Amino acid sequence: MIYTCYEMARDCRTDRPEGWSYFLSNYVPVVRKIVAHYGSPDAALLNRVLVGIRKPESSLFQTLEPVPERWFLAELRQNVLAELDSPAPEIDLDLETVAAALEPLTMVEKQAAWTEGMRYQPQETGPMLRMAPQTVQKIRDRAAELIRGKVDTWRRTLLADNGAPLGRAAAAAGGKECLSQKTFLDILDGRMTWRGREELERHVNGCWHCIDHFCRMLEIVELLRGVQPLTEQEVEPYRTLLGIQPPKRPAWKRLLGAS
Ligand SMILES: [Zn+2]
Repeated sequence: MIYTCYEMARDCRTDRPEGWSYFLSNYVPVVRKIVAHYGSPDAALLNRVLVGIRKPESSLFQTLEPVPERWFLAELRQNVLAELDSPAPEIDLDLETVAAALEPLTMVEKQAAWTEGMRYQPQETGPMLRMAPQTVQKIRDRAAELIRGKVDTWRRTLLADNGAPLGRAAAAAGGKECLSQKTFLDILDGRMTWRGREELERHVNGCWHCIDHFCRMLEIVELLRGVQPLTEQEVEPYRTLLGIQPPKRPAWKRLLGAS
């Protein structure tokens, strides 16, 4: 039996050191990557985000259902972004305008455009979407021109500048037709393909909540690449920061049957 994300959430919710130590060891490296990408690599910023997650009102550990790790990570990503201040864009671009402008694009092209708002360069986006970086760039240039046709004031970075508010708007725009987390994971893991799932594809193609969700799941796969858990020694300063006692024995080692 292994210590699962669900048990970690339960232990963090009830403020058990085992849960928090597991969280810090396994997920600080991921939080650090998200903070560096969307904020800055400043250690003080990482600490502030962790303190925010630790607050009792944080929603991160509230799930009462056993969930796959990537589901938890999707929540973690949203929680971290909520803790970061994003500068207000000089020119506002709303989701309805983006949706209307990019309507002619295919589902994958929409993802290539949307990930520009998530601050991923074409070289980083290419592997996420299994596409050549030059193709990503071409789609983004076309998307920018399409947006230009719908707004009064335009600049090339308009979509990128509005990434944070657009992401919040898309996250809030889900409806009952939207794909479940499980369906996204099935598609990502190849248990289900888009082909032959025309209905799903038709929905996602017209739904920016689902486009955003899918891009965020692809992002998580990338974020996890090469991440190593922190050692006990590396976890210690974070435990001190958050006022967490060291566990007598790490729960996951006990559960893994270490003597
Ligand atoms: Zn949807």
